[in-house]
Amino acid sequence: MSIETIINQGGTLVIDPYNTSLSPDEFLTKYGNIVDSLCIVAKSEHGSTYYQSSTAPKDPKYGELFSAFSQIATDIGIQTFALIHGNMDAYFSRDPNFQMQRSGGNPVPNYVCLNQKVYWQYLSAITAEITNTTAIDGIILKDVHYPRDTACFCDNCRMSFATDYDYNRDFSLEQLKRSPKINTWNNLRQQSTNGLISSIVQRVHSERKVDVLSEILLDPQTDYFEGASSHFAQDINSISQATSHILFHLHPWSNLPSTQAELDKLNEHLIGKLNIINSITNSLFLWGPTVEQYEFAMKVKDSLGSKYIFFTEDKPSSYLERRSLHLGMGV
Ligand SMILES: [Zn+2]
Repeated sequence: MSIETIINQGGTLVIDPYNTSLSPDEFLTKYGNIVDSLCIVAKSEHGSTYYQSSTAPKDPKYGELFSAFSQIATDIGIQTFALIHGNMDAYFSRDPNFQMQRSGGNPVPNYVCLNQKVYWQYLSAITAEITNTTAIDGIILKDVHYPRDTACFCDNCRMSFATDYDYNRDFSLEQLKRSPKINTWNNLRQQSTNGLISSIVQRVHSERKVDVLSEILLDPQTDYFEGASSHFAQDINSISQATSHILFHLHPWSNLPSTQAELDKLNEHLIGKLNIINSITNSLFLWGPTVEQYEFAMKVKDSLGSKYIFFTEDKPSSYLERRSLHLGMGV
């Protein structure tokens, strides 16, 4: 019921077959006549694709879902977006040479080191395939980030930093924080995030002029733009240079605003960045909103002039694990 109400209010539903109760047929039968736009996951958190890819492994269960669904949707005039999970990729990160590592040496499960140009090319090739083979209207590039400031301390990241900036190779985050070189380190993390986004935007645009929406995670528990920059290396100044459409994922790790006071707090941070926000297109992203929470997000949309509000039916099944990781709890 709430899905229908939100779609009627202009929300764009994001469909991932592993996180939704609706099959494509059920969805189109139920909502086909009221939907203007739709987003379908094309590359999952697992690293598998929901279409026949010549680059990445096809999902064993839903390997045709994206291509079939996006074809039907575009045929009946629904604006269609593809979502890909950036460096969150359980398949690729199984290779220890590419896996993200925490300070101290423990791996970050399911994350690929952002400083790996091989992975930039891999993900660019996937987005090019999607752009070439389907008539999509945009690509949502989600999860291009470090989950916390404790990453990435893989051999490759530490060795290149030690060589380029004359530093002891076996350093930890704690040591870096006591050194003026922490600023250089943080800049390099942002450059890696941007490098991946830029290489995808360039590759997509060399095929077709399709919007690439790149995410910034805005949560009260990581102090909104401050944590987005210092933990996730999603700096709005820097990302706005790499793409022309920013996607604000509102409150990923906290309840979505459902009171005026919570909304005011979020708005206060957004208004502080209004100069940049006004210079670029923006959209909003919500995990499993209630109708009431969606209506609060519509107020944000009005004040920011956002183009779309993307929403999922529910939080992802990996939510609790991801929340702990991003908030630095118990890991
Ligand atoms: Zn690394």
